[in-house]
Order: sequence, then structure tokens, then C-alpha cells
Amino acid sequence: MAHDFEISLDFEACKGCGYCLEVCPGNVFDPGGVHNGKGYRPPVAARPGDCLGCQGCFMACPDFCLEVLRAPGKG
Ligand code: SF4
Ligand code: SF4
Repeated sequence: MAHDFEISLDFEACKGCGYCLEVCPGNVFDPGGVHNGKGYRPPVAARPGDCLGCQGCFMACPDFCLEVLRAPGKG
């Protein structure tokens, strides 16, 4: 499905705190099932089509793991 925003999550930098899941008004993230090199399980941006572009996850992440960019061609 086409969507307006692309969410990038730095898998290895994430420490699995879950703040991004808590703050997201679009319920974009699901808890992750795969451990990174530090032993944490980063969330997965499972529903990027529901992203509102609020930047809440970007601001909430203590480790600057998240980037939310407008998808190319969407103005
Ligand atoms: S920008 Fe807002 S709506 Fe989009 S994933 Fe982050 S918190 Fe959720
Ligand atoms: S807020 Fe950042 S460090 Fe915490 S789970 Fe989300 S991406 Fe990982």
C-alpha cells in the first residue's frame, strides 16, 4: 500500500525501551521478535501506512534510532 512516510530504525543502536511504541498515535510499531547485537529486541515499523508524520517517535527515542521522512514523490 502506498504511504506518505518512511520510517527508518537503527536496529543495532536500539535498546528496546519501547518509548516509540508508547508515543505513536498511529500504532505503527509492533514489538520486535529479533535480538540485535546488544541483546535488545527493536520494535518493527509494521504499519508505516498509518504514520501521521508527527515525529513523536523521533523525539521520544533516547538513542536517536528513528528517522521519519516524507516518502519520495509525496510532496
Ligand atoms: S512519526 Fe508519529 S505517527 Fe509516525 S511512526 Fe513516529 S510516532 Fe508514529
Ligand atoms: S524509542 Fe528508540 S531505543 Fe527505544 S525501542 Fe524505540 S527505537 Fe528502540
